[in-house]
Amino acid sequence: MEPTAEPGSLPEIRLKDLRAGLPPVHILGRIVALSRREVTTRTDGRRRSVLSGLLSDGTATVRFTWWDPPAEGVDRGTVLRAVNAQVREFRARAELSFGWSTKIEPASELELPSVDPRSVPLRRVSELALQDDPFRLEVRVRDVSPRTVTVREERRTIYSGHLTDGSGTVPFTAWVDFRLKPGDVIRVMGGYVRLFRGVPEVTLDERSHVEGLPPDAVPSSPKSADALLSIGVAEGRGTGALVTIEGLAVGLAPPSGIVRRCPTCARALRAGTCGIHGAVPGVADLRARLVLDDGTGAATVSLPQEATEQVSGLTLSQALEMVRSDSTEARVEGELRRRLLGKRFRVSGGTRVDEFGLSVAATGIEPIQVDPRTAVAALSHALSERLR
Ligand SMILES: [Zn+2]
Repeated sequence: MEPTAEPGSLPEIRLKDLRAGLPPVHILGRIVALSRREVTTRTDGRRRSVLSGLLSDGTATVRFTWWDPPAEGVDRGTVLRAVNAQVREFRARAELSFGWSTKIEPASELELPSVDPRSVPLRRVSELALQDDPFRLEVRVRDVSPRTVTVREERRTIYSGHLTDGSGTVPFTAWVDFRLKPGDVIRVMGGYVRLFRGVPEVTLDERSHVEGLPPDAVPSSPKSADALLSIGVAEGRGTGALVTIEGLAVGLAPPSGIVRRCPTCARALRAGTCGIHGAVPGVADLRARLVLDDGTGAATVSLPQEATEQVSGLTLSQALEMVRSDSTEARVEGELRRRLLGKRFRVSGGTRVDEFGLSVAATGIEPIQVDPRTAVAALSHALSERLR
């Protein structure tokens, strides 16, 4: 028989202090994720209802399992107090189990502990890497835009863009509307980093905490703080670095122009088919993969739609119109080539180095003014080098 206690006789502990092997605990937390299912018990074949999900109190987020929960009144966002919760261990992490002896009651948001942000280590954007430890970012939102995705047949709006500080720029995706606007200066806790095409990306979800900071908490022009690297040196940094390079546009690599993407995962379709989701109606996207050369090497720079439109002056709708009137998508690529080649650009973004050399997923691009005669000489030199 498990020992039991009434509220009050068992001190409340923070989720960050949960350890496997503790006697039953008294905790307070908010449900930040949950799912309900039915299981058949092995002993007597009885059907039991189980809720499982994540509980957060601001100090940590832990998994929980709730046996025979009430049929309703428990939702994402519910704050609850649980007395006599069992602490179990799963993959070396503590998690909670609420059983018949656990006393659970609704609690107020105001009872949740306030977290001292200083207890979470501050990380610079340029230092972000895959890691398990909690971190804090203090950044400026460079851009943000909503996008609709389908996850397990559910339509969801996600928000993606870029975060910058003095050290660099990183893409982010938020699965919750934090009402971010370009220029907002924010503190972020409870985010995590994943690698997307070899480049670190910050993911924010229900477990993440975002709060506003004064505008001067983060420098407003991080671009000037990004050291310019030669393409050769940038390539030497390997995959996953954030770099700023400059070079002359000497080519356009495929696929450039109109690309049809999977509406779920945004991968480029091949013959109307996504490698993961099968035959899907493609979503039109405009992109350029610019080959930049600076004499020390070449880099393939992938520009997302917004940046492609910005530097080429050609919008997706104009490109689609062009295709409608003349029915060949190759013309769009030709048009991009005409508008971009021979120009010099400064690009910031995340690197990937593979058998094709250096690729940069651009998070920022700006044209650099050059003397046209110098540009022509440099272009013909670069082209003759590539043809040799
Ligand atoms: Zn897909």
